[in-house]
Amino acid sequence: MIDTRSRTRSAALALAGVAMLLAAAAAPAADAPLRVIVFGAHPDDCDIDAGGTAALWAAKGHQVKFVAVTNGDAGHQSEGGGALARRRRAEAQEAGRRFGIAEYEVLDNHDGELEPKLTVRQEVIRRIRRWNADVVIAPRPNDYHPDHRYTGVLVQDTAYMVMVPNVCPDTPPLRRNPVFLYSQDGFQRPNPFRPDVAVAIDPVIEQKIRALDAHVSQVYEWLPWVEGVLDTVPKDPAARLAWLRQQRSGRPIGEDVRAALRKWYGARADAVQNAEAFEVCEYGRQPTEADLRRLFPFFD
Ligand SMILES: [Zn+2]
Repeated sequence: MIDTRSRTRSAALALAGVAMLLAAAAAPAADAPLRVIVFGAHPDDCDIDAGGTAALWAAKGHQVKFVAVTNGDAGHQSEGGGALARRRRAEAQEAGRRFGIAEYEVLDNHDGELEPKLTVRQEVIRRIRRWNADVVIAPRPNDYHPDHRYTGVLVQDTAYMVMVPNVCPDTPPLRRNPVFLYSQDGFQRPNPFRPDVAVAIDPVIEQKIRALDAHVSQVYEWLPWVEGVLDTVPKDPAARLAWLRQQRSGRPIGEDVRAALRKWYGARADAVQNAEAFEVCEYGRQPTEADLRRLFPFFD
């Protein structure tokens, strides 16, 4: 027979034990590969926003998945529909292979018509859960392109729902909320992007250029056409790769991103020529500085 006080203490200890077990179940082992899922509106957006960082993660054995929320079937001046969607899906697969990431999935929603509706949110929730993501990356919900903007809204709207068992009950909920990050943009309203983390991608910039080179319909056809410079794109594959390299590497790094590089890399930051930056979303798990060093194992 034990008295009430010790019974209470036993119960408290038992509860503490259960809590520790639950925490152990929810937290991945320190040396387990990270699981990162990146969302973009179109089959090349993840590549542009986070491709270098993804290549760095993949090279260290971490598991990275890209998801294009639309199939890209409007992104061309003279092609379209199912044929363009198939072409872009194949380009995305090749780009994913060149980045060395685990998966590149293209969802079958129409380009230029994305809306932040429940069915698409459910598609996103299931992808994050199945990937058992530690980190989720997506655009901010402020952007000139409605597909980018709504991809930001859709992913942001999952930051709590991925934990809720009664939402999409066909797919087990996450027990540990991922860290949600925004990819970089230059938009100022209603608030500018804040680079909480900046990653030097110089070691993989050539790999990133060669992966972007897989998106032939975009980097050599559609985007130059939109910008009115289609006639400057060389026809020869080697020459156009050199043209792409000139377009996509060594772009000026803003002072805010440079300051973030200094925070994470110290004095080495001043020599960095290519970077990708991310902002911590205030929804989802809030990482400490130590958490961010574990999630971005590139700074030592
Ligand atoms: Zn896009």
